[in-house]
Amino acid sequence: MEQKYEAVIGLEIHAELQTRSKMFCACPADYAHAESPNTHICPICTGQPGTLPVVNRAALEQGIQVALALHCTIPPLNIFARKNYYYPDLPKGYQISQYEMPLAVNGWVEVPVGKEGTLQRIRIRRVHLEEDTAKLFHQGDRSLIDFNRAGVPLLEIVSEPDMHSVDAVLAYAMHIRNVLRYLGVNSGDMQKGVLRFEANISVRPAGSQELRTRTEIKNLNSFRALTRATAYEIRRQIAIYESGGQVLQETLGWDEEHEVTLSQRSKEHAHDYRYFPEPDLPPLQIEAAWVEALRAALPELPEARRQRFIEAYGLPVAEARILTAEKSLADYFEAVLPQTQASPREVSSWMIGEFLRHLNERQIEVEAVPFPPQALAELLNLVAQRTITMATAKEVLREMFESGAMPQVIVEARGLAQIADEATLMPLIEQVLQENPQVVESYLNGKESVFQWLMGQVARATRGKADPQLTRQLLQSRLDALRRSRL
Ligand SMILES: [Zn+2]
Repeated sequence: MEQKYEAVIGLEIHAELQTRSKMFCACPADYAHAESPNTHICPICTGQPGTLPVVNRAALEQGIQVALALHCTIPPLNIFARKNYYYPDLPKGYQISQYEMPLAVNGWVEVPVGKEGTLQRIRIRRVHLEEDTAKLFHQGDRSLIDFNRAGVPLLEIVSEPDMHSVDAVLAYAMHIRNVLRYLGVNSGDMQKGVLRFEANISVRPAGSQELRTRTEIKNLNSFRALTRATAYEIRRQIAIYESGGQVLQETLGWDEEHEVTLSQRSKEHAHDYRYFPEPDLPPLQIEAAWVEALRAALPELPEARRQRFIEAYGLPVAEARILTAEKSLADYFEAVLPQTQASPREVSSWMIGEFLRHLNERQIEVEAVPFPPQALAELLNLVAQRTITMATAKEVLREMFESGAMPQVIVEARGLAQIADEATLMPLIEQVLQENPQVVESYLNGKESVFQWLMGQVARATRGKADPQLTRQLLQSRLDALRRSRL
């Protein structure tokens, strides 16, 4: 049924900027570490009459850098606007935002979509600056308000409706988060609400170019909520068309618990924000030289780093993409490299394999790994020097994740060093051969595939510590000798 329809999705992303002070006053912006509610406040961010806002230059710089990283144009004139509405978390009765003359316009990104990672271009309509609202807490029949967040700089990134699947939405959202983290302007910590999504969704008959009535889902605060809500809403709209109905233009909320979208207000009740230019802030002239200086100061971004990983380290595209998808992971990889004898390909496959598997299993981010890159480098050195086997290395890595101990310490404490001397291995091989006469017999009769099984028995007898190369050599020569004695 779904092939008959195509979803058309645009995304608005609100990102808090990590500036020292708020958007229009000198209060600290880091509300997450405030000692108590309503301590990072002043007459400006609590909306007292007669106060005057001042634009935060650092927020402008961060906003321009994000816009440049998203290939946007920065118009020379920028105007702040009042977005008028009343809500208890917005005591001024308006939010200072941007409307007709935003910070940046006409950008684009290319993101790998789905399992095949097909690159898709998604256009960015605009990027603008605004201020965050206060936070409300509801306790029984009372509501409490904390103004520490009021006035924190928010960057709003608005895409064109260029996404047609949940996979594309996820790839785009992850890419934007990644760019923000590469630029160091947002922690990407969605549990703390520093990144919030709104999705505009409509569906149309596949192959048509019409734009049908769309709905808007507000306040999606995790990738999980974003993808589930989007998938649900696409299904809901298709079901309406299939039953001959019409989709209503409305604003929806996402009910996390029941996994359904719920109507919040219909078109008749849509806000008319009556935007007008903010009279307390002069139009901002953005000088081209300043923009160019900010462009020159951009750090290496995900695409460039991915390309460098492919060219400088000879990594396959897919591996380079995984390693650079998180700045912290790419940093970790590059911190391991100079400290190990293992090749970049080997380090890459360890990190994408075992290392990421542990992160997923433990549901932790790279920042929470309990050992430094040097420890992983040394673990790979122990393998390269044939002090331990691959199998042992995996076991040691597990323990490193559990205790944070250095690999040599674990290897010594648990006697895990590889058995690589003939005098120890040969008797074990003899024993395996004696205990499995039928297997040896079938090998000598030409069934060479059992060789691997015999190797496995030796590995088992040594709990994975037998040097596989030497074991193979010794086992082979012993079996060759047996064969010769038969002739
Ligand atoms: Zn303030």
